[in-house]
Order: sequence, then C-alpha cells, then structure tokens
Amino acid sequence: MKPMLELRNVSHVYVNDKGASLAVEGMELMVGKGEFVSLVGPSGCGKTTVLSLLAGLFLPARGEILLAGQPVHGPSPKVGYMLQQDYLFPWRTILDNALLGLEVRGELTAERKAGVRRLLEEMELGGTEERYPHELSGGMRQRVALVRTLATEPEVLLLDEPFSALDMQIKLQLEDLVQRTLRRLGKTAVLVTHDLAEAAAMSDRVIVLGSRPGRIRQIFHIPRELKQQLPTAARRHPSFQDVFDAIWEELDAGEEGVERSEESTAE
Ligand code: ADP
Ligand code: MG
Repeated sequence: MKPMLELRNVSHVYVNDKGASLAVEGMELMVGKGEFVSLVGPSGCGKTTVLSLLAGLFLPARGEILLAGQPVHGPSPKVGYMLQQDYLFPWRTILDNALLGLEVRGELTAERKAGVRRLLEEMELGGTEERYPHELSGGMRQRVALVRTLATEPEVLLLDEPFSALDMQIKLQLEDLVQRTLRRLGKTAVLVTHDLAEAAAMSDRVIVLGSRPGRIRQIFHIPRELKQQLPTAARRHPSFQDVFDAIWEELDAGEEGVERSEESTAE
C-alpha cells in the first residue's frame, strides 16, 4: 500500500504559562492510501494532538510528518478535518454551508457545485439545500459537515469523534454511510473515537494509545471478514466480539497502569 500519512518518531510538547507538557512521544505510524485507521485511548492521551499534527495545524517538537511522501509544514488542501461539533453557520442555508470550503478557496465552479448537490443527495440530504441548520437533526447536520469536508475533495479525512454526540441508531446509520462513501471515493481516513465498537467496526486497523505521554501501545489489524462488511453488519459478525474484547483488554490494561502509577505517586 502506498503511504499517505507518516509519523516518524513524532513528539509534541505544549508550552504555556504553567510550563511544558509532553503530549505525544516517539510516535511511529504509517497510514496507507485508502486505509481507514482509528485512534483510541483514554481521554488526554493525545488523540486530538495527533490529528492536529497530521492536519498541519502546528508542527511537532520533534520528528517528521509526511503527507503523500512530502513533509508537512502547514495545512494542506489534501486534508479535510471534521470535528465532533458541526460548526455550521446558522445564517447560511445547507447548500451554502456545504459550499463554504470551496468558496473560501475560490474554487466554486458550476461543476463543483453540482458535485456538492450530488453528495448531499448521496448523504440522504436531498431537498434540504435551501433549509437552515436549526431545521435539521443532529445526524443530518453532521452529514452536512461531512459533505462540506468532502466538497473540496481532500484525499485524507481526519475525523475527531464525529459521531459521538449522536443517538445510537443515527450513529450506526452514519457509520455505514460514511464508510461506504469513503470507500467508494478511495479516501484515506483517521478516526478518533472513544467508542471501541465503532473503531472495530469501521477500521482496517485500530491503534490503541496510552497516556502520559501519548504513545502507541498496540496496533490491532481487523480481520478481513469484518473489514469487508459495513460497520452495522461487522458489529453483528460472529468474530466481532473477540476483536472488540482484545482491544478492550489492551485499553483496560493501560488504564490500570495509569491508576497504579497515580497511586504510587500519591503515596
Ligand atoms: P485527547 O484528544 O486524547 O483527549 P489531547 O490531544 O487533546 O488528548 O491532549 C493530550 C494532552 O495534551 C493532554 O494532557 C492535554 O491536557 C494536553 N493539551 C492539549 N492541548 C493543549 C494545549 N493547547 N495546551 C497545553 N496542553 C494541551
Ligand atoms: Mg480529543
């Protein structure tokens, strides 16, 4: 698989008035073109930091980040970033929200606009073009945000807990829809989630991170029979529970380690 994203011995330190803290240490990761990778781990272990580094929002204190073989020095049009909150503008219609990225980049052609309308249809948002965000459900708004992210045709999607504020049923539908769309378009994706079942059901690989500092504890390769299914079907597959349990145990072992070290420092 051709590498699309690479972290080479990446460490990141946040510096503020309270001092410096090592958020990510010595991270090595390669994400192949068209691959879907999830990052899971306890709160504060550096998941968002890794996404922000991949997005080129800031540079790592040490190490190197490559996008399609080129060093990342800042944000790239090849990368789309989608957050848990949809950040739609309430005063713009759904279509105008979806077109925002193209507009900002000065790439809004009739052809691109037609493409965005098609994406809205595919995301089951046909007929909402002239409506406003407050008229839509949370799940619909997240789909609009996804269309907006896809509209600029990024090759890589960075997804930071995009489904976590949604009801279970909506979330499952959206997982299927997102995965089907990303696969069809051949996109590379890195998903941050605290939902291990979501990670196992959607990904080719699940990366379990440990905290203080954030580092990779374990990488799980999802078996082919699960990868071939859409997320809702994968969740019902006979081999799903074993995969889920293995990831859970790894994460749980890490959390215990943190608690123990906290106890020992408290003594
Ligand atoms: P996660 O997304 O896994 O919850 P983050 O990447 O947000 O974790 O944070 C990793 C660590 O870095 C945490 O200890 C957090 O407190 C710290 N951190 C995150 N952002 C900043 C910042 N802007 N300034 C200082 N520390 C930060
Ligand atoms: Mg986060």
